[in-house]
Amino acid sequence: MSDCGNEESAMTVHDVSLNEPVGDRVAKTTCYMCACRCGINVHLRAGADGHEKIRYIEGNRDHPVNRGVLCAKGSAGIMQHYSPARLRAPLLRTGPRGSGEMKEISWDEALELAVSWMKPLRETDPKKLAFFTGRDQSQSLTAWWAQQFGTPNYAAHGGFCSVNMAAAGIYTIGGAFWEFGSPDWQRTKLFVIFGVAEDHDSNPIKMGLSALKARGARIVSVNPVRTGYSAIADDWFGIRPGTDGLLILSLVHELLRRRAVDLDSIT
Ligand code: SF4
Repeated sequence: MSDCGNEESAMTVHDVSLNEPVGDRVAKTTCYMCACRCGINVHLRAGADGHEKIRYIEGNRDHPVNRGVLCAKGSAGIMQHYSPARLRAPLLRTGPRGSGEMKEISWDEALELAVSWMKPLRETDPKKLAFFTGRDQSQSLTAWWAQQFGTPNYAAHGGFCSVNMAAAGIYTIGGAFWEFGSPDWQRTKLFVIFGVAEDHDSNPIKMGLSALKARGARIVSVNPVRTGYSAIADDWFGIRPGTDGLLILSLVHELLRRRAVDLDSIT
């Protein structure tokens, strides 16, 4: 290539601005596409109608949880706002259960309908209401609402997912994952992972596993599939799905049989 050509391409590169701001302002917040709450910078730009729209989400380098890393799920957080599939109004089922036949109704209609179902229960026996919510972001409020209604029969998704994990983690290692804390990545010598859902807490766990690897700590994975975290483990036990409880009980049995339990450390 001639010198002239080099000058030309240098000029072309020079003319391209690689740092155009993608929005008018940046809002700092935390991601809730899973429960670990990585720090994010949300770039917003006002549209012609004056309403701000999200243009781009990036990891916040100053946030201690993720230090700038954003996983694919976090990047897709923009779809929580703009997905065409997002619910915009209450839906009333019009066909048989499971048919997917629905129609949009107003909030007034929805509230009227809910009152017609629940008022008779409240006036007679509120405990007949069993109230179950999914992974919403406000379980303290939904629980409070159920208590005010008068039913003890309320639960949420966390009861068979994160809350058990949190309780077990807090009782055993003093913390769990997500907002419940984290293992002691700096001192752990042996890290055993049982069937991790890798789309959850992915940034902090990846950073923690890297710290373990860098220190030469041993990682053992128990998981039917050897992907992701299992692929970098020192030992992988590819058990049959659903047999993890049996494996744990057999380990407990063996420890007891050999009298190999360090009673001082667990009492
Ligand atoms: S790990 Fe991913 S989905 Fe979870 S909070 Fe962080 S960026 Fe969001």
